[in-house]
Amino acid sequence: MKYFDLHCDTVSYLFDEQLDFDNPVTHIAAHKLGAISTYKQVFALWCGNDPELAPKRYEPLLAFGKAMCKEHDLQPLFSIEGAELLGCDPALLPQAKRDGVISVGVVWNFDNPLCGCAKSDSKRGLSDEGRVFVETAVKERMAVDVSHASTEGFWDILSVSKGQTVATHSNARAVCPHFRNLWDEQVIALCAHDGLIGLNLYSEFLHGKKADIHSILTHIEHMLSLGAEDNLAVGADFDGCDSLPVGISGFEDIPALYKAVAAPFGEAIADKIFFQNACDFFLRIGA
Ligand SMILES: [Zn+2]
Repeated sequence: MKYFDLHCDTVSYLFDEQLDFDNPVTHIAAHKLGAISTYKQVFALWCGNDPELAPKRYEPLLAFGKAMCKEHDLQPLFSIEGAELLGCDPALLPQAKRDGVISVGVVWNFDNPLCGCAKSDSKRGLSDEGRVFVETAVKERMAVDVSHASTEGFWDILSVSKGQTVATHSNARAVCPHFRNLWDEQVIALCAHDGLIGLNLYSEFLHGKKADIHSILTHIEHMLSLGAEDNLAVGADFDGCDSLPVGISGFEDIPALYKAVAAPFGEAIADKIFFQNACDFFLRIGA
């Protein structure tokens, strides 16, 4: 099968834990890759917990990710999770694009000078600097990721990045009321703009401790009811989440998940969700 995943924290996790990709603990690991014939993975370069230290992380983290991709014959596709990694400086975006960064998330779990985040209740949207940052990312033909943005930030970003907007790892809030999930209006607006939404397999965003494969299907069914057939993808959040739903242990279970999705929704829709929609989106924006 073909699999395109919009978000995992594997590179950042391995870098921080000083582990090799060939290890027995991570959700995605070298020995699991054989499960998928065509595999495209966007590896998140995470800003880390300290915004002061974040700019110093970018170069070594990127170098680690590039070396890992080269060694294991993976396409080096990266995203930025928290613009602190670039010191919130739009002037660094063109180089990031040349480095293989195809998607950039303006904020992570703390507000920054560019935008408020989903986790805080500051209700801050995009600042003037934030707007310049997003405009620059758009010009560089990068996707702009709203997954961690505040609700206000979401709408501000979407008004600038329009058809280049992606929620790389967020589910439906109508199904699971978590602050990181998308309201129905947000899903509908992303679809109207030809944006992209990556289903997150973190159990907290699916159905809390009771999450299982059926919970994933419920989110898919809801997204499809809102018109997301050509906009839905997967951003599993492997190695960035503490718990996965019952029935999923990591990358090795993606083929089983594909089958579970194809059974009720059909292979054509499963193919779109697991690969084609993401492929089409990045091709269209020229990332
Ligand atoms: Zn995240």
